[in-house]
Amino acid sequence: MTRPGPQGGDARIPVRQVAQKVDWQQAQADVITDPGELLALLRLDAADLPAALRAAADFPLRVPRAYAARMQAGDAHDPLLRQVLTSPEELAPTPGYDTDPLAEADHTPVPGILHKYHGRVLLVVTGACAVHCRYCFRRHFPYQSHLPTAARLDEALAWLAGHTDIEEVILSGGDPLSLSDRRLLDLLARLAAIPHLRRLRIHSRLPVVIPGRMTPTLVSALGDARWDSVLVLHANHAQELTASLAAEVRALQQQGVTVLNQAVLLRGVNDSLVAQEALSQALFRHGILPYYLHQLDRVAGAAHFSVPDDQARSLHQALRHRLPGYLVPRLVREVAGDLSKTPL
Ligand code: SF4
Repeated sequence: MTRPGPQGGDARIPVRQVAQKVDWQQAQADVITDPGELLALLRLDAADLPAALRAAADFPLRVPRAYAARMQAGDAHDPLLRQVLTSPEELAPTPGYDTDPLAEADHTPVPGILHKYHGRVLLVVTGACAVHCRYCFRRHFPYQSHLPTAARLDEALAWLAGHTDIEEVILSGGDPLSLSDRRLLDLLARLAAIPHLRRLRIHSRLPVVIPGRMTPTLVSALGDARWDSVLVLHANHAQELTASLAAEVRALQQQGVTVLNQAVLLRGVNDSLVAQEALSQALFRHGILPYYLHQLDRVAGAAHFSVPDDQARSLHQALRHRLPGYLVPRLVREVAGDLSKTPL
């Protein structure tokens, strides 16, 4: 999306890396990790740098260049920038905000498996992400205890094979699509050998932040008749969606893959009717159905993104009055220990 700059021209930042088609793995390796570089690229005040550096110490800044290219230079309140720029607000301890807000440690039968809901499990396949979202509820997750070493993966797959009530496996992380196609295909082949698994779901933000992730190899693997496949993208703002993503979604749909979106309601990013309406409209134009709008998980370091429940309900009601039902995501919160997502 192009917006006019202060002088009336296109104020998107010039980003050399997106000038030509970039290999997604190269783009994932060549991300911005220095808050100073990001501020300079966006022509923003370096006075904010010391605070940004302090906040980056625990959970480093990580921003793909193609994603930064969609930000508005000179706008410190850009909704994409706000999601990724480290902020001193992250350092303020806030009562009620925890390092494990969903008590995931209580739902781990074996390392790498999170079993919260009937018939489905999360399989944590990596701790890596292409982008670091400042509101991430797993920003303190003990990935080292879950990452799939060969022995742990054997144990997790054996657990799955022994639980015939599990029909759906959800690849999670980190971002599962940060793994190479080769590793994903190896994993899918092993999962496919477990006869009672019927559905494969992947939650990922990577196709939103780096163009070209949905390679023909991966698209064809997800379209394999062995699975009913679902890709749940994580986009929070209309400005995040690109023509390249629309083409990738079309390719997936041609293979029979269902593509949904879940967003997080974030103060200063998408907590207005204009932003939510634009997101739903843009998702549909890109072939994606809005699925969930999540209230923020109360993770330590993210309290400044919180939107009060009353405001969230009013916003959602206003959205229902503006859009057809199929464009209105379900407003939910995840409550630790509940047997499903809880509608607000
Ligand atoms: S991509 Fe997902 S897992 Fe990774 S930091 Fe963002 S919200 Fe967290």
